[in-house]
Amino acid sequence: MGSNLGGGFEALISKLVTLKGLIHGELILPGEAGYDEGRRVWNGMIDRHRAAILYCVDEHDVVAAVRFARENGLTIAIRGGGHNVAGFGTCDGGLVVDLSRMKKIEVDPEAMVARVQPGLTWAEFDKATQKHGLATTGGLVSTTGISGLTLGGGVGWLVRKYGMTIDNLIGAEVVTASGEKIRASETENQDLFWALRGGGGNFGVVTLFEFRLHRVGPQVFGGPLFYPIGRASEVLRTYIRWASSLPDELTSLVVFLTAPPAPFIPAELQGTKMIAIATCYTGSLRDGENLIEPLRGLKPAVDLAGPTPYVGLQSMFDATAPRGINAYWRSLYLKQLDEPAVARLVDCASNFKSPFSQIHIHQLGGAVSRVSSKDTAFPHRESQYLMNIVGLWMEPSQAEGVIQWVKTTWTSLAPHSTGGEYANFMGEPIERVKAIYGDNYQRLVEIKRKYDPHNLFHINQNIKPV
Ligand SMILES: Cc1cc2nc3c(=O)[nH]c(=O)nc-3n(C[C@H](O)[C@H](O)[C@H](O)COP(=O)(O)OP(=O)(O)OC[C@H]3O[C@@H](n4cnc5c(N)ncnc54)[C@H](O)[C@@H]3O)c2cc1C
Repeated sequence: MGSNLGGGFEALISKLVTLKGLIHGELILPGEAGYDEGRRVWNGMIDRHRAAILYCVDEHDVVAAVRFARENGLTIAIRGGGHNVAGFGTCDGGLVVDLSRMKKIEVDPEAMVARVQPGLTWAEFDKATQKHGLATTGGLVSTTGISGLTLGGGVGWLVRKYGMTIDNLIGAEVVTASGEKIRASETENQDLFWALRGGGGNFGVVTLFEFRLHRVGPQVFGGPLFYPIGRASEVLRTYIRWASSLPDELTSLVVFLTAPPAPFIPAELQGTKMIAIATCYTGSLRDGENLIEPLRGLKPAVDLAGPTPYVGLQSMFDATAPRGINAYWRSLYLKQLDEPAVARLVDCASNFKSPFSQIHIHQLGGAVSRVSSKDTAFPHRESQYLMNIVGLWMEPSQAEGVIQWVKTTWTSLAPHSTGGEYANFMGEPIERVKAIYGDNYQRLVEIKRKYDPHNLFHINQNIKPV
């Protein structure tokens, strides 16, 4: 521990003790109760030893933390839900600013707006908004934090109808690197507002998000249909034709997976490789049923599609991604799902190196592509499919095989991709950050220079101010 921090460790700790007296929340130092538990993030593979964790309870604590880190030249990591696969919610030797205790949410059902503190998970957000029959685009696993997911873009079941999460962000309150509290919206600090929508945690600590809400549910039509992997090419051929003519109300997701030992999977299929097509339709339940007829015509081995609570769909995948599982992911945007791409995909999916690993293909288009690639920092508006190569494993001995499988799959599909990658699905920091920010990169550098010239916020897919 001390070796991570060098000789100034004791001096740093005594300064951190003074920080304890300045905050309303809780500061936990090495050796204190809660330090080891607080070191953990969602990805079990991430094992970092920070100097302290500050559980903020309000904006005042965030300002104190930012000023302290800046004045003492201390690395600072901002943590919302802690789900970042690359482990950007923690760091070695620095100060973790944990926002998970800032969980207030105000829903204005008339204005259809939610004002949300950064520590909420999507489960908590959906619970509060669905009370009013409202929702906005969130993630597919309900334990994920709203903060990191929003700042990186945000894709989920409502993405084709209502756009990405950032397309529903209408304002934010931010503590900048200088410790100043400012607002960002279409009318205040517009440059910052533009950068927050896809530029990640590079520009400051967001202490409040304001989201536009929509009428959704409480029942929607959706759920997965499963087919044996041996039929994947045939299923995907039908899927591609079907998906190209869907209304925006329907968002679909292709999942390659190993069938879990769950009661809804017949015993003879458990542990076998399968392809699933999952859907969410936000129009009438009857229309939803009619729309998936071509998928049912393929005679799925397991059919779980039907009327379902929206919050049920939002947590349907929770069991596949428990906290503490080891993870390494890579992503790419597919130009199109043509025959050669499908052949490579099926080949890679047949070679999973652990039963938890999956490949997801998120259908985009609809409202995502109606926003120009210059209107927010997120540039990949034209792509119809986002592929996430989800390496997950429990046994440490499987690490090397799974990570290699993710890399090989990525390389194999790269010729079919646009060259871009999705900030939120990156398993490690990448040098090629331009692949994430595309043609918006230079403008992001300029905004970074204005709001964080010394790169205080660098534990992220980092945009360097020079
Ligand atoms: C199981 C699982 C399912 C997922 N499903 C989806 C999905 O359906 N759709 C999707 O788009 N993504 C999804 N993701 C990816 C997810 O969006 C990213 O992992 C995201 O970073 C998680 O946000 P977080 O707040 O939980 O993470 P954290 O690790 O807490 O933070 C992630 C990054 O955001 C920064 N950050 C966090 N909060 C703030 C803040 N308030 N102000 C400034 N910076 C901040 C952090 O510094 C860090 O760089 C999923 C991830 C997991 C692990």
